[in-house]
Amino acid sequence: MDPLEKLRILGPATCYEPAEETTPTGRALPPPQDVPTDLKGCIYYAALPGGRRVPILKTLLTSACERDCLYCAFRAGRDAPRATFNPDELARLFLQLHERGLVEGIFLSSAILGSGPQTQDRLIATAEILRRRYNFHGYIHLKIMPGAERDQVEVAMRLADRVSVNLEAPSSRRLALLAPHKEFRDELFLRLRWIAEIRREMTGRRPSATTQFVVGAAGESDLELLHATAFLYRHLGLARAYYEGFRPVPATPLEALPPTPRIRERRLYQASFLLRDYGFSVEELPLSPQGNLPLEIDPKLAWARQHLQDTPVEVNRADREALLRVPGIGPKGADRLLEARRERRLRDLGELRRLGITVERAAPFILLDGKRPARQIELPL
Ligand code: SF4
Repeated sequence: MDPLEKLRILGPATCYEPAEETTPTGRALPPPQDVPTDLKGCIYYAALPGGRRVPILKTLLTSACERDCLYCAFRAGRDAPRATFNPDELARLFLQLHERGLVEGIFLSSAILGSGPQTQDRLIATAEILRRRYNFHGYIHLKIMPGAERDQVEVAMRLADRVSVNLEAPSSRRLALLAPHKEFRDELFLRLRWIAEIRREMTGRRPSATTQFVVGAAGESDLELLHATAFLYRHLGLARAYYEGFRPVPATPLEALPPTPRIRERRLYQASFLLRDYGFSVEELPLSPQGNLPLEIDPKLAWARQHLQDTPVEVNRADREALLRVPGIGPKGADRLLEARRERRLRDLGELRRLGITVERAAPFILLDGKRPARQIELPL
């Protein structure tokens, strides 16, 4: 099989592993427009530190797996398209696509071939060839495999801009329902701890770290997922968590389970951004008695309706923390608003709109110079 044929199998196989950029509302960014037809499903956008979006090649190193996770299209024994790159051929193929101007970075994951450490060696070898032989200085996101050794994690972190460990579930109990032969604490969670420790020891450029959860197949609540996410943000410095809604795959043990509605993924992203960027705690999120987010309304709006409807926020006096509680005001908008406020009092919605605030969402929850501006949104602005 030639390398491009392998890529046509191994690129789209990463559809189960989100690594691309999402909007603040949790929608995945569409892939670049100009991707050649034979590379569709292989190229997406990632965001670099600082926010620049770059097209990246997303691929597995191999789809041959020794494990048998219950939901997975590539579980051992299932009839699935299998291919394996050797590190050299994948590095050369990537370089060709890079030289054609199609990609500026790579997300490299893998099924487990042989063992976690053996597969990690191949992922590392690919990144080493790119960095050392081809002097590639662009974006590399490397997956850390279950059971990878600590020194492998360290080497991967020296080569990559981002590393990730797929936790898949928020606890051992839930993981056992998805992947009975994966060990939550020793094979997965411990690697995230190592990443946090190594990041603390590193000087200069430090790679960011992420994780992924499969949502909806293990009966977990949003509360469980968001507690795990909050812990990872707060204690292990994770840059973000990805939520991949379960989709049943034919000829797997979980094929009869219903798919997870996309809207649940979106609500989880929105809630996780509230935890990471807006100063919310899990306890403040508008969760049902069963521990789930409402699907019909975004969590920040639901919180504001409960807490700000009768006590609106005066935008000329509120601190950053209070401004961030208002729907339509994000971290950048809050900073711009605070800066503008140093020079003048803000009196109308047009001024807020020019600062990047979504006034239609903010208006019911704010005061402008002591007055509710809600009716102003009907005026042309
Ligand atoms: S380790 Fe599990 S989830 Fe990963 S490819 Fe193998 S079977 Fe699939």
